[in-house]
Amino acid sequence: VQDETGGGENPDNSYHGVTITHPERVIDPTAPTTKGALAAYYAKLADPLLAWLANRPVSLVRCPQGREKQCFFQKHDGGSFGDRVDRISIPDTKGKQEDYLVVNTPESLLTCVQMGTIELHGWGSPADDIEHPDRMIFDLDPDEGVDFATVRNAAVQLRDLLAEMGLQSFAMVSGGKGVHVVVPLDGSADWPAVKDFASRFAQAVSSAHPDRFTANMRKAQRKGKIFIDWLRNERGATAVMPYSARARPRTSVAAPVEWNELASMETAAPFTIKDADTLLTRAKSKALKAWGKADQALPDT
Ligand code: ATP
Ligand code: MN
Ligand code: MN
Repeated sequence: VQDETGGGENPDNSYHGVTITHPERVIDPTAPTTKGALAAYYAKLADPLLAWLANRPVSLVRCPQGREKQCFFQKHDGGSFGDRVDRISIPDTKGKQEDYLVVNTPESLLTCVQMGTIELHGWGSPADDIEHPDRMIFDLDPDEGVDFATVRNAAVQLRDLLAEMGLQSFAMVSGGKGVHVVVPLDGSADWPAVKDFASRFAQAVSSAHPDRFTANMRKAQRKGKIFIDWLRNERGATAVMPYSARARPRTSVAAPVEWNELASMETAAPFTIKDADTLLTRAKSKALKAWGKADQALPDT
């Protein structure tokens, strides 16, 4: 039985060869969650998470003193991760090389947790083909007061519009407020082409349904609406990875869902790290094994 310190099953607090120090440290008083419990969660979900996370430049949300203290978004390797986490050097738009972290193994993942990581975010392109996205994401961001039924209906509406263009898409509840509509891509298009498509699609949807959507990131434009955040589809942009924990109340989890189950969900955060066993069983199910996979290219438009 897992106790609140994360020590019950694992008295030496070692996961995949990584020793977790201060396992009793409370990192989320709302759950409450300890660093040890988070490590146990990631140790359990390592395989499904790495299916998305591996071979991808990552950014980390690190909260060394817990989510209610200072957290920071780490994009670059500051040299503190040692040789347990891989690196990739990528030129920025001005040609300057920058080092990014790449998390390819359970040991590497748990090293990030030991370093105070709560969330793992990834680029939309693989490390070995960095200029060609393997997915496009429409991140639905509801304004305060938009209820979740409206958000999930909006996600289905995007799914149907994408399907009309021959694109299969998948839903992920973010563990926060919204839903990510994820469109796998075969890597034939480069970043400018994917960004252009995502932008035009978001504009077209919001012009057709201006009461419900906006494609304009300015807060003033979002009143009572859902912002279709298409800016996840720029070179260098990141999105939270499937099965990542969130530095949010209850230590919720970003979770892939089937379209038919989304229809009856009441919130974007139905799972927390306490649901590790459920999430692992779900991830191994036939439907969710196929989640996020489709060999498809952007249509000519
Ligand atoms: P929600 O459903 O609550 O919107 P979300 O994960 O979609 O959850 P957003 O705020 O919409 O959250 O998206 C933030 C995105 O911006 C993340 O996917 C993250 O990868 C990216 N990002 C870029 N810079 C930062 C930063 N400094 N802090 C946090 N996120 C950042
Ligand atoms: Mn969002
Ligand atoms: Mn967003």
